[in-house]
Amino acid sequence: MSNSTSTIDWVRCPSCSAFVYRKRLKRSSGVCPECNHHFRLSLPDRLEQLLDAGSWAPEPEVEPLDVLGFADSKPYPSRLEEAQKKTGLRSGALYGRGAIEGLPLAVVGIEFAFIGGSMSGGVGEAVARAADIALRDRIPLLAISASGGARMQEGVVSLMQMAKTSQAAGRMRAAGLPFICLLTDPTYGGVTASFATLGDVLITEPGAHIGFAGPSVIQQTIRQTLPDGFQTAAFLMERGMVDIVVAREDLKGRLHSLLKAFAAAAAAAGEDDPAARGCRRRPTARCPRSPTPRASSAASRGTSCRPRASPRGRAASS
Ligand SMILES: [Zn+2]
Repeated sequence: MSNSTSTIDWVRCPSCSAFVYRKRLKRSSGVCPECNHHFRLSLPDRLEQLLDAGSWAPEPEVEPLDVLGFADSKPYPSRLEEAQKKTGLRSGALYGRGAIEGLPLAVVGIEFAFIGGSMSGGVGEAVARAADIALRDRIPLLAISASGGARMQEGVVSLMQMAKTSQAAGRMRAAGLPFICLLTDPTYGGVTASFATLGDVLITEPGAHIGFAGPSVIQQTIRQTLPDGFQTAAFLMERGMVDIVVAREDLKGRLHSLLKAFAAAAAAAGEDDPAARGCRRRPTARCPRSPTPRASSAASRGTSCRPRASPRGRAASS
């Protein structure tokens, strides 16, 4: 819970300034009992909250590489070492298999405390490998994002991850497997502009900030005052950028409902064949699936290969 002023036992809420007893905050899943402010969670805490106890089976992390020999105020390897010590992670992203109320899924998540959740080659590889697990085991994929954008120390290698992770999302879609994106506070830059907004369902929490460029950059560029609540969850929900804003206490239950609905839609479509989950459109190069009619439930629409709604499409391609 990093966005707070804290002493050992007490945490100051950045929203209402109340001092909250740390254990009480832990009991309330990192939500301020006074004002409902959702504190940022570390990735391990997030996984613990969402996944069934004992179900998480992480794969070995992808080691980060200093491909450019980059140094700003300090060499990149020193920054990596600091981040590794601070977070206990090697690369800043975890991926593997888990379960939500008994339903299995592949999961990948980014740790914001690791160099601002920036997308390195290792983070992109973790996303691609998580998709590979989902495709191999024919299970849904959940991507949990928290990022400031690209990792400048890896230059073009970092930027390449946008294409790489978008391709991973594309493979999920082509296979007709559900891909759920949980965008947590904050999700920005190349992560927003790639896999984090390419899921069948985009979920976020109240108050989360999501965007491409930050508000101060936009304000300086367009020289206009931005509206209240710009880039917050409610603002984006109203404009169709995200599908659901869910309070943290309901998040696991909502994810379970979605997974259950996706599984029911797949079962109604016949069996585990990706073609059976296809859309009614004729097969095309973009949508090479069989034209088998699919189930008509709302859930099955989430696995269809229809183009994305335009607001999100624009955001993802900006
Ligand atoms: Zn508060």
